[in-house]
Amino acid sequence: MSALETDIVIIGSGAAGGVLAATLAEHTGQRIVLLEKGGHFTHEFFDQRELDMTVLLADRGARATVDGAIPVTGGECVGGGTTVNYALSFDPIRDVWNGWKHEFGVGPFSFDRGSNDFGITGLNMATCLADVRRRINVHAPSDAEINDNNKLFAAGCKANGIPTRRFELNMIDCIGCGFCGQGCAYDRKLSTMVTYVRDAQRRNVQLVHHCDVQRIGFAARGNDRFATGVQAVVRPTTPGSEANSVDRGPLDIRAKLVIVSAGAIASPALLQRSQVPDPQQLMGKGLVLHPSLPIGGTFDRQLVNYRGITGSIYSDHFYGSHGFYYECLFDHPMNAAIAIPGIGPDHFAIMSQYSKLAGFGVMLVDTPNSANRVDWDASSGRPAIRYRLTQPDKARLRYAARVGIEIMLAAGANEALLTSEEQPGTMAATIFKKRQDAAQCEKLEFLPYQTLITSAHCQATLKMGEDPKRSVVNSRGETYGVRNLVVCDSSVFPASCGANPMISVMTLARYQATRIANELNRYGLS
Ligand SMILES: Cc1cc2nc3c(=O)[nH]c(=O)nc-3n(C[C@H](O)[C@H](O)[C@H](O)COP(=O)(O)OP(=O)(O)OC[C@H]3O[C@@H](n4cnc5c(N)ncnc54)[C@H](O)[C@@H]3O)c2cc1C
Ligand code: SF4
Repeated sequence: MSALETDIVIIGSGAAGGVLAATLAEHTGQRIVLLEKGGHFTHEFFDQRELDMTVLLADRGARATVDGAIPVTGGECVGGGTTVNYALSFDPIRDVWNGWKHEFGVGPFSFDRGSNDFGITGLNMATCLADVRRRINVHAPSDAEINDNNKLFAAGCKANGIPTRRFELNMIDCIGCGFCGQGCAYDRKLSTMVTYVRDAQRRNVQLVHHCDVQRIGFAARGNDRFATGVQAVVRPTTPGSEANSVDRGPLDIRAKLVIVSAGAIASPALLQRSQVPDPQQLMGKGLVLHPSLPIGGTFDRQLVNYRGITGSIYSDHFYGSHGFYYECLFDHPMNAAIAIPGIGPDHFAIMSQYSKLAGFGVMLVDTPNSANRVDWDASSGRPAIRYRLTQPDKARLRYAARVGIEIMLAAGANEALLTSEEQPGTMAATIFKKRQDAAQCEKLEFLPYQTLITSAHCQATLKMGEDPKRSVVNSRGETYGVRNLVVCDSSVFPASCGANPMISVMTLARYQATRIANELNRYGLS
């Protein structure tokens, strides 16, 4: 058994964990250990082969709801989701955070640059956001960087009178290889792996990867319970990963402050198996997934969709009225094969036109429902994820599917496709040749195993709020009942953050780390 003694231990090195480690190292002289379940793979390792790069994903890309109906993709490597994501960067939405303040007492989280939240000089969301944007170079791509797929999507929207926007992206000098989802082989995508985690290591933060945290340890002091550290298992280093900083085998870490940043699936599972008090049975409940519905189209000419920046154009036209976005994305052949309808010869016929395919997706801002949840399942040794679309969410998704089909046909597709075996209305298959057929989408039921819904934006499983009867953590991220156990990642959002979550998570992490650095006494640190 290896043992480490530290001041602060952070579990998870993704969007939140990386920023926390670097910011705490920047502002304090504390000893910090950063633990990551996955490997530390750098740009030389990213070979742009979809199957090889599943090593960067939770359950090697096979993580799904317990019924197997919805893939729940997540990064499991140094950098977490930021290593495998598409760099689509949305600022935190002020109205959403103000709404949380009103509904859950969450705050202050001021968006005014002059605010001193928690009485800490200069602490506010606006400053933290500006810091994050600067460090990871969030900017809009140029005209020359828009590829065929994105141009077609923009044209289809324009023909339907739907305004589009350009995504902002966290990249620098991108060469447009098109493989953001497999890890950037050129270090041009500024994931936390190549930014904040490196900053943290330069400031002597110890990174331990291949480190699966099993439990958080506790002790009692009078009537108070406090976290004492974590027990983990360090797996053998996977070929291709950087060397590790401790030997394989059991690892015991003692720390004064434990920060959980393992993401919205693994964080509640860790708290549950560590038996963190949960008198209201709230942990894991109200999972939000941002269900995504892929929309494909076949064209009569060769397209070069697999090259260039994958996503550069989107539309938020329906965000205010219907709560969804259209986002331009495109998959390489392995993932495209999963997102294409049909089996056997039908599937083959569409796949053989791969070079003429275009695609984008609907991203639904789903409403929390307590039946949608994550539970630690001790018998299988993995989190059990349960999720069903609610009826109101289905209604919004039907409308999104209908308009999405109209966009694809208006872009010039011979056929627009949904990944579905359903036969909505009068249709024998979800292959749409005429605009008027799109209305049949109103008959879709989004049945499990029949219509493919994907997800990669898990949130809201350890909700933040000032009422312990409704929330797992307070606005500082401290778990009710254990002050020195702080949660900071996508799980603490009370509901969907309203857009792709990476920048919201990173801004929150910058904010909480700055706050902790100014409140060290609160955790017995000085
Ligand atoms: C394929 C994909 C594409 C995406 N595209 C975008 C996009 O373009 N824009 C956007 O805004 N968002 C995108 N997202 C979502 C975004 O990346 C996530 O919302 C964000 O990374 C969540 O941050 P987090 O810190 O909560 O968790 P993560 O970034 O997932 O980090 C959690 C880390 O904890 C580690 N961990 C888990 N359990 C343990 C344990 N027991 N012990 C130690 N470590 C553990 C995990 O391995 C992981 O590295 C995408 C996600 C995916 C998967
Ligand atoms: S498209 Fe750009 S940022 Fe993405 S992997 Fe290629 S070079 Fe890196």
